[in-house]
Amino acid sequence: MRHFVTPAILLLCTLTACAQQSSPIPTDGNPTHYDLSTYPKVRDKISKTNAEWRAILPPEAYDVLRAAGTEEPFTGPLLNNHEQGIYVCAACGNPLFSSATKFESGTGWPSFWAPIEPDRIIQRTDNTFGMERTEVLCARCGSHLGHVFDDGPKPTGLRYCMNSVALRFERK
Ligand SMILES: [Zn+2]
Repeated sequence: MRHFVTPAILLLCTLTACAQQSSPIPTDGNPTHYDLSTYPKVRDKISKTNAEWRAILPPEAYDVLRAAGTEEPFTGPLLNNHEQGIYVCAACGNPLFSSATKFESGTGWPSFWAPIEPDRIIQRTDNTFGMERTEVLCARCGSHLGHVFDDGPKPTGLRYCMNSVALRFERK
């Protein structure tokens, strides 16, 4: 009996390995291969004063993007958006996430398992509210977007928990 079980386990391991190799994140780090050449470059940084941001952003977006606020769960307009396209920073237009990595987390906030390109975002430790979390910011304008947690789905196991008002959706 053992003679037959062992090849079965080996086959299972081989299949699992194959599944991991076909990860939807290619080596260039862009899960969808959307052409981002027409979008702002991360190196073209945006820097504005709080007064300047306040003048151009809606109050609810300012509170999240520039004051690290969190929108009420299940209130954001992009939570149940299932169209194909790109989610850009609501403050500066930097492409952040693809619809291809959006998933239903049940948390009440739009959730993604990977950024559209790794260098489009910045991650830093956030110790506010007595919790140790990892804050996610726009790498171009420094705006607060949300947090990332390690309880997401495959292939990354990450959950980028974003505020709807920090994002703007562009249909593709
Ligand atoms: Zn930005």
